[in-house]
Amino acid sequence: MNTNLGCRSNCSYCYLPILDLKLGKVPNQEKSVTSIINYLLSHPLFIQGKQGTILSIGCYSECWDEINKSATIELLNFLLTLENPIQIATKQFIHQKEIRSILDKIVWCGQLSIYISSATISFWNKYEKGTCSPLERFKSFNLKKEKKELLMFLYLKPVLENITIKDIELYSSLIEKYDIDVIVGETFNAKVSEKISSVGDEKLYIQDTSDDYKNICKDLSNLCIVYSNSIEPIEKIREKMNG
Ligand code: SF4
Repeated sequence: MNTNLGCRSNCSYCYLPILDLKLGKVPNQEKSVTSIINYLLSHPLFIQGKQGTILSIGCYSECWDEINKSATIELLNFLLTLENPIQIATKQFIHQKEIRSILDKIVWCGQLSIYISSATISFWNKYEKGTCSPLERFKSFNLKKEKKELLMFLYLKPVLENITIKDIELYSSLIEKYDIDVIVGETFNAKVSEKISSVGDEKLYIQDTSDDYKNICKDLSNLCIVYSNSIEPIEKIREKMNG
């Protein structure tokens, strides 16, 4: 779900233009939180509760951009009352004071997961123009200390060929510093493959994993748990809950 469609940042690899959504300027396709909630609650496939639908915010926008943040907070405040697992991914810095009231509403471990996204540290200025700098962004991991039930992950997505892997040492230090697990995400783009992505109205395809992808997963798995998508950690927690 998205409180806006489009993004003010301009990441070189972003899939939004494939979906005819604009980058690099203020999006004007704002959606009211009430309309999103009504849509969700009346959707025939929506299942409420811990074992229900995984709610993901911000596949088609930057949910923590200044222009979206208050709507995202309002939406989170409501969604947490449903007790479904919720996930948000961002390339912005989330300050503790912005999210404290939300954290107070978490009642089970895994109910809210925050994915701090990055495809490069050293070449951020070139490939992630308009986003918050990775060093600033990664300070969001301090939120882990605020609420033990909050899950936080480093989200390496997409793996940029010959770029992301150059920062493997920096990512490793980050993982050790904050004691976090990692999602090394699959790449979605318009190149037709056998696997259609679950986002993107059937215009996005999941690309085959590269040698860089495999090597990053292998190296990081010596330090932490490495997942290949954001759903896996939630499913693992729910499996444990169900014994
Ligand atoms: S921050 Fe996310 S939505 Fe915005 S341009 Fe970058 S990849 Fe696209």
